[in-house]
Amino acid sequence: MISSLENYAAIVGNEVIDHLRQLADRLKGMKVIHVNSTREGGGVAEILSWLVPFKQQLGLDAEWEVITGKKDFYQCTKNFHNGLQGAQVAMPDHLLATYEQTNRENAERLRSKLTDADFVFIHDPQPAPLLRSFPDRKGKWVWRCHIDLSRPYRAVWKYLRDFVVHYDASIWSLANFAQPLPHPLYLIAPSIDPLSQKNRDLDPQEVAAVFNTYNLNPDLPLITQVSRFDRFKDPLGVIEAYRLIKEFTPVQLVLAGGGASDDPEGEEVLREVREAAGDDPDVHILLLPADAHLEINALQRASAICLQKSTREGFGLTVTEAMWKGKPVIGGDTGGIRLQVVNHHTGFLVNTPEGAALRVRYLLKNRDRLEAMGQKARDLVLNNFLVTRHLREYLTLMYATMQETVERIEL
Ligand code: UDP
Repeated sequence: MISSLENYAAIVGNEVIDHLRQLADRLKGMKVIHVNSTREGGGVAEILSWLVPFKQQLGLDAEWEVITGKKDFYQCTKNFHNGLQGAQVAMPDHLLATYEQTNRENAERLRSKLTDADFVFIHDPQPAPLLRSFPDRKGKWVWRCHIDLSRPYRAVWKYLRDFVVHYDASIWSLANFAQPLPHPLYLIAPSIDPLSQKNRDLDPQEVAAVFNTYNLNPDLPLITQVSRFDRFKDPLGVIEAYRLIKEFTPVQLVLAGGGASDDPEGEEVLREVREAAGDDPDVHILLLPADAHLEINALQRASAICLQKSTREGFGLTVTEAMWKGKPVIGGDTGGIRLQVVNHHTGFLVNTPEGAALRVRYLLKNRDRLEAMGQKARDLVLNNFLVTRHLREYLTLMYATMQETVERIEL
């Protein structure tokens, strides 16, 4: 359930909401379909769960469709994901054949909807080949890349580019992810919904309750990383950092994560994480259900500092979520984290467990600095990474894409 757009005026001002309505008036009734590969788990599902209802509230005929496949399909697309983020992965022919065949099957299932849609937004590589099955499409098709493509393994991008090249436009989170393509490229950063269960204000009792719920020690400062169990999120590096902090400063660590139905590697990474944590009573590995939004909200609020020690990161909604709660973030110096963590202002950018440990110890010792950074972090999100800005940019893109032949677009 999303809030009524009018409720956001208290946060961003009436003008912003009026502007959104004016823009949306030009797109009223348009059929817009978003397609990705999982209904829950990970940032894309998180965003679509409110982006689509907001577009409906603004008068667009918006829908969200999910493609499905078998084990080999997800293995292939996870390899693509890893490859696009720089890992040298294998691309055996039988997996590529499954990938393309799965997309053809999904295209048939979605044929009537996608043929007639005015706009189709295809998220990430999993459904990228769908376009090939719609030579007689009516609307504009836009590929939205959520992945850190700053240094892709070339073989993977070369293969996927053949699908992406035919889209009418593409959207990227950061300029240095964008690859050369013969269509308009848009930069749109993701965002969070400040009134959702994951981000809304909580009573102090609701926050304090997490200590009981998860057997945490109320007398120890808490540091937290919320993430799928994925190697690029570097959960083992977080445990290493925790150990280095603990040598000097009492602290407890929460690594909270769940799976995503399109991520087959999560279980293996979770096993490695549990092994690395051993039987340390102050390391809490929480495997949360997909709808644990309130719990994540409370854990982030109960934390002194949040970590996101990724080695690659498309954007890092977890960073935005923590910053919105007034927490400085100590994040990997990479991808979308750099857009949010302004080094020494809204948190610290780090490259090693040692760096992360040093910064956590510094902030735990300098509580005034911690508070001040947390406030700056919240302001940065307020001004840049809320749903209203995201919607405005999507609507602008749609309007601009419709006006393909005019040279000047008046908004
Ligand atoms: N998330 C969640 N439960 C978990 C782990 C993550 O709800 O167990 C959410 C998290 O709060 C965030 C999103 O999933 O909203 C992850 O997005 P992010 O951009 O940080 O990373 P991604 O998983 O897309 O790589």
